[in-house]
Amino acid sequence: MNDFIKAYAKFEIRLREMMVAVCGNMCGMCTACCCRADICEEACDSAFLQLLLKRQGFTEFDFDDHYGWLETAGCRLEYGRPPVCYEYFCDELIEAMPDDHFRETMRRAGLLIDDIGRNALGDIHLTEIRNPTDLEQVSVERLFQRLEKANVELTEIFQSLEKGLQGLE
Ligand code: SF4
Ligand code: SF4
Repeated sequence: MNDFIKAYAKFEIRLREMMVAVCGNMCGMCTACCCRADICEEACDSAFLQLLLKRQGFTEFDFDDHYGWLETAGCRLEYGRPPVCYEYFCDELIEAMPDDHFRETMRRAGLLIDDIGRNALGDIHLTEIRNPTDLEQVSVERLFQRLEKANVELTEIFQSLEKGLQGLE
């Protein structure tokens, strides 16, 4: 699982950088931030995301009951965020995107991280497994295959959105 954790973190950083390039200006200025402590808390309840948090040196004591992982400069988690953090785009953000192709592509990008962990243990998503011992039953080989697919798709998305994202790849 350790090698997968490393590779997943690398992918999430790549995805996050693209999201920041597209949404960073608007989200950075937003006064109605959609981050919520109960969403942040999902990272604390997840056995898998806990491993990613530990890798960054976070412990349960770093979690703020009121603000979760959010601070004035944005989310403190470089990786290990709940998948929903990449899936949600508010109406203002959607409207600010240049065209429908761009919107559809960004929506697809937002689902990539969710795809990796889908049905990891029966119908349970990888990030929804709470018991660390249950993680041992997950097929790491299948996770790697999904991760590879997501990496390929993210590269295609970078290429498809090339205009406006130059310099990231
Ligand atoms: S997605 Fe919308 S509501 Fe959420 S931080 Fe960005 S601009 Fe604000
Ligand atoms: S992006 Fe970070 S601060 Fe915002 S909801 Fe997700 S984990 Fe919390």
